Amino acid sequence: MQEVDVVIMGAGSAGLAAAHQLRADGRSVRVLEAMDRIGGRAWTSTEPFGIPFDIGCAWLHAADRNPYYPEAQAAGWTLFHHDMGVDHLYFGGRKASEAEIEAMKASDGELQALIEAHSGEGDQLSALLKDSPSLRAAMTFSGPMDFGQDDDEISIADFKAAADLDPNYFTKEGFGALVARFGAEVEVELSTPVRNIRWGGQGVTVGTDRGSIRARAVIVTASPAVLAFEEVEFLPQLPVQTMEALFDLPMGMLTKIPIEISGGRFGLKPFDDLLVKNHARHDIFFLCFPFDTDLMVGFVGGDFAWEMEAAGTEAGVDYVTHQLCNLFGNDLRKYVGRSTMTNWSGERYVRGAYAAARPGRAAARQVLMQPVADRIWFAGEHLAGPLIQTCGGARLSGESVAREVHAALG
Ligand SMILES: Cc1cc2nc3c(=O)[nH]c(=O)nc-3n(C[C@H](O)[C@H](O)[C@H](O)COP(=O)(O)OP(=O)(O)OC[C@H]3O[C@@H](n4cnc5c(N)ncnc54)[C@H](O)[C@@H]3O)c2cc1C
Repeated sequence: MQEVDVVIMGAGSAGLAAAHQLRADGRSVRVLEAMDRIGGRAWTSTEPFGIPFDIGCAWLHAADRNPYYPEAQAAGWTLFHHDMGVDHLYFGGRKASEAEIEAMKASDGELQALIEAHSGEGDQLSALLKDSPSLRAAMTFSGPMDFGQDDDEISIADFKAAADLDPNYFTKEGFGALVARFGAEVEVELSTPVRNIRWGGQGVTVGTDRGSIRARAVIVTASPAVLAFEEVEFLPQLPVQTMEALFDLPMGMLTKIPIEISGGRFGLKPFDDLLVKNHARHDIFFLCFPFDTDLMVGFVGGDFAWEMEAAGTEAGVDYVTHQLCNLFGNDLRKYVGRSTMTNWSGERYVRGAYAAARPGRAAARQVLMQPVADRIWFAGEHLAGPLIQTCGGARLSGESVAREVHAALG
């Protein structure tokens, strides 16, 4: 049985960063990845449209603190600065007036102020919205679209701890491709899911279908949902507070439904933000024709996104097409070309988009930031401090945990 200093479970942004850092510190490392590619939730594919399309992360958030941003710049990639706003707002099929758009923007400010000022009883964000329709409209971006959760599933404390993510950039070549470039030099054993981690004696023994590896420590970067589902057997079991923390950080959901529309622009400019407010939290956001491609990229988030993925791609694409026809007329159908829908709920080794603490449970993140018995560390987007949920944050978490492990190994 081979022995190394550290086994890294997962070759997403956090795992790749941990590997770079530990190698730089002179540590021996094995990186095991369940999927047949690196990148995890960072994945650019040319398959659906013949051009780079990000199935996972796309916005380079917090570019002033995001290590991927200077790398994209240095590589000469095409970058476009785009912070979220509302250029077009519809209530169902009705176009909102300028005054209504302004009212929604004002509500957004009001919402942020309510969240900042909150210090009393209760941690469920929905309680702050009361019965105000404009606050609820403003919440669509911050809740389902950003946090991946509906307002009643969001912890105010968790939401408050997340940083403002401006400035944001897109890269035409794809965020997933940028992460793949970052990881290109890292030796990764693909299609090698970790099945169990034995930590009863000295160090750890990491079991896979191809055999076991002895190590002094393991860094686990799988999403909390994967671990809560007990995809990996820990022997002995993880401490109760660690297991509870995993359950207290369920995955939010964000689903992309991009549709090719060739031949018409319907008065929309590249990168316009278009929001359709529907009943019953069935809102849909469109990023219009990014980089002047023919794609209208629909987004749904929160419970609606889980429902959409369960209904399948055909239903999702029909829904989006119907929504667009509602806004721009049935003629639009003749321009519709290829389409797809992302399916992170069905991805066994991810099981959602990104983690959000249950109301009252924001402290779960701190629990998971503590190593178990000085040999099991956790890293990833869910432990990225103010940059939680982001790919840049996952990388910083991986680097920081790797430094901790290096120091602990002496
Ligand atoms: C639809 C969507 C849109 C998003 N948009 C943005 C965005 O615009 N900007 C942004 O910054 N972030 C965005 N994100 C979030 C971002 O993609 C993630 O925060 C980040 O990529 C997570 O990196 P990670 O390393 O923590 O986890 P992951 O990328 O999930 O990496 C963990 C790895 O562990 C592997 N693994 C799991 N179980 C095992 C096992 N048993 N054995 C071995 N390997 C295992 C997984 O296969 C995976 O590769 C988005 C995510 C989604 C899903």
